[in-house]
Amino acid sequence: MSTADTLQGFKRDGRVVIVGASLAGLRAAEALRDEGFTGKLTMIGDELGEPYDRPPLSKQVLTGWVPADGTTLPRRRDIDAEWLLGVPADGLDLANNHVRLADGRTIPFDRMLISTGVRARPWPVEAEAALDGVFVVRTREDAAGLQRAVAAGPSRVLIIGAGFTGSEIASVCRERDIPVTVAELAPSPLVGGLGAMIGEIAADMQRAHGVDLRCGVKVTQLEGDAQGRVRRAHFSDGSAVDADVVVVALGGIRNTEWLRDSGLAVGVWGVACDAGCRAFDLNGLVTDDIFVAGDVARSPNPMYEYRFISLEHWANAVEQAEIAAHNMVSAQADRWPHLSIPTFWSIQFGVNIKSVGVPTYADEVVVTQGSVADHRFVAAYGYHGRVTAAVSFNNAKWLDHYRRLIETAAPFPPPCPTPDQPLDAKPVPVDFPGPTLLAQGATVVVTGHDPGERRVTAMRQHR
Ligand SMILES: Cc1cc2nc3c(=O)[nH]c(=O)nc-3n(C[C@H](O)[C@H](O)[C@H](O)COP(=O)(O)OP(=O)(O)OC[C@H]3O[C@@H](n4cnc5c(N)ncnc54)[C@H](O)[C@@H]3O)c2cc1C
Repeated sequence: MSTADTLQGFKRDGRVVIVGASLAGLRAAEALRDEGFTGKLTMIGDELGEPYDRPPLSKQVLTGWVPADGTTLPRRRDIDAEWLLGVPADGLDLANNHVRLADGRTIPFDRMLISTGVRARPWPVEAEAALDGVFVVRTREDAAGLQRAVAAGPSRVLIIGAGFTGSEIASVCRERDIPVTVAELAPSPLVGGLGAMIGEIAADMQRAHGVDLRCGVKVTQLEGDAQGRVRRAHFSDGSAVDADVVVVALGGIRNTEWLRDSGLAVGVWGVACDAGCRAFDLNGLVTDDIFVAGDVARSPNPMYEYRFISLEHWANAVEQAEIAAHNMVSAQADRWPHLSIPTFWSIQFGVNIKSVGVPTYADEVVVTQGSVADHRFVAAYGYHGRVTAAVSFNNAKWLDHYRRLIETAAPFPPPCPTPDQPLDAKPVPVDFPGPTLLAQGATVVVTGHDPGERRVTAMRQHR
């Protein structure tokens, strides 16, 4: 049979399994059907219920404006799939092309998509994490629990971690006039994603809205009462704060453990794949039948020197899902690369923050238009003299302009496209806190001497 016939046969009667039935999984399933795939489609997800949207969980759900179960993702079309929900996949057998479920079933496939996303990083001390009043926010159950606790009018909410999620939650609590302490180990909020200059602006914003912001400190202990309710937190500087709600907003852990023995290139950094979403095996060779999309994926971006980038962005999950679906049913010559410039948004303290590009891929940043004091501006990021990203505060309509600058590798600093250029703005070092991933050590070791023998083996434990 010719390659074209094999592909047509797969499109007609093949079996596709999607593991991770959330945003990327659902959008990939819809795109597969749009692409003319009429074979068997199986959706595997460890959560119960319909796929739902996560961005509202730290925004409209927390304010009580949208109920947690009102976040179901709209369906773009019927996907005619078998849904295996409420049971995690716990292994992948590449020799026999099947997924193992935790309940012992095996699900065969011809091609599969991994879209298992990330989970919330829990508070590291289990007994303290289990105290009543301690929350993370990743699922709609998490958000419903936190919404109830916030609506009950706590005496103080402590938020550990001032990234986007932590800052959004602080903002919602302040809107309700609830006393809030935010603890952040870095020098300012949002600094890990947007650098020191924007971090300082975010810190001013938080303080202006009455947040007790404590940067450069670590929470060392959560203390509960005799009933098992959280009451107090202790800090590395010897201080303490009384709080009856604590939100642990320390980022995510990629859901890759179930793939540990699969022979795929997986690690704490996600599942590595090419720009066409095809997974790499442990040796870094691209596979034919395994695809990756969404928060769990780590792929090279040609616009950023082909560096491998993981993004926890809604739009990226959708775009990768569509690319993966297209490539699953296409011949090699018809495959698409994932070349979208990343975008992200957040709403906090009355400010609509949006970004385009990869702000962490920069050495300098400059305010190009608007006014920082009015919280209405755009800042452009540059790396080695070219524009690599832009962030807007209440000024999103200009981001398409900056997207084009990024796509055309325009020189940095760019000229201001409007008459409101701040006269005194000069590029400053972008100043991100240290690269935390480098501290996590090797994930494989290399063995063998001859080129035909050299292979890598996954390390069970990081050194
Ligand atoms: C509170 C919050 C606010 C956010 N706000 C924004 C925002 O403002 N802007 C923005 O751009 N992005 C935002 N995001 C990020 C955005 O929601 C994610 O990028 C998006 O959900 C990624 O989709 P995904 O399908 O890749 O992964 P996920 O949504 O994480 O879905 C992965 C699914 O796989 C399941 N799973 C995991 N392991 C297994 C297994 N072994 N077997 C079966 N199923 C498994 C998980 O339970 C989950 O259902 C926010 C996220 C959160 C949590």
